[in-house]
Amino acid sequence: SIAYLNGEYLPLEEARISPLDRGFLFGDGIYEVIPYYAGKPVGLVAHIERMIDGLAAVEIQSKTTLEQWSALLNDLISRNGGAEKNLGVYVHVSRGADVKRFHAYPENVEPTVFCFTFDIKDPEPVDRTAVHAYTVTTAQDLRWRRCHIKSTALLGNVMHFQQGYASGNSECLLYNDKNELTEGSSVNAYIVKDGVVITPIQDNQILPGITRRIIIDSLKEEGSIKVEERTVTMDEVYAADEVWISSSSKEIAPVTQIDGKPVGDGTVGEVWEKAFRIYTDAKFTHR
Ligand code: PMP
Repeated sequence: SIAYLNGEYLPLEEARISPLDRGFLFGDGIYEVIPYYAGKPVGLVAHIERMIDGLAAVEIQSKTTLEQWSALLNDLISRNGGAEKNLGVYVHVSRGADVKRFHAYPENVEPTVFCFTFDIKDPEPVDRTAVHAYTVTTAQDLRWRRCHIKSTALLGNVMHFQQGYASGNSECLLYNDKNELTEGSSVNAYIVKDGVVITPIQDNQILPGITRRIIIDSLKEEGSIKVEERTVTMDEVYAADEVWISSSSKEIAPVTQIDGKPVGDGTVGEVWEKAFRIYTDAKFTHR
């Protein structure tokens, strides 16, 4: 595939960066993943705004504007034949390569900008009997306390993901030291109880997921399903009728087993099916 690196388009396998790049040495960078279905992005402006906010939060001096980012990403998608495919685009901005390894932010170093595309799957069938359901484990959230920043330093997330993966599950739901749900290692999390969708509030304990935003906004706009953003205890998670996870690549995905025990009656729920239809109808209209 064709990648973008510091102003140039080139075959992905030819892209090279310095081993002194702070993204490599320190995980000192910000990233995004944006889905494009047949050339149409989901939440493009929201994704770019989150990245610009993240860069500002860690003081990476990038001057690229929203308009320039969207032109670059759309261009990369079309160079990769995106009109006929479903592609995700990975965007990575690190603080750049210094002349030595030193923790302090260097001055006069150009950020490294790297983007590439990869295939993503077709959206899931809306039918609740046909959709792929996920099984998850749980663990105390041992990441850092700046989870709202989409940092490339993902070892904490990777270790939690591996906890789920190693035991044959596809995610690990995390809880804080008050036994409250935060999110999954690479997804936001939701419960459904008595027809109400409940998801943890957006604070420093979770990534402000763009899919989460589109789900909440589209459900509120459509109006037939009640949504609450509030603290969710793990007792509520275990007693939920339905549990969902969301991300740009998984969209809204149902969870039918937690730590080997069924969620609700162990099948994909009706609220998931309805919410997924509402989300699907709205996703391309979100900013
Ligand atoms: N939480 C974490 C920790 C993530 O890494 C991600 C993205 N993979 C999400 C939530 C979901 O965010 P988005 O919907 O913007 O992809």
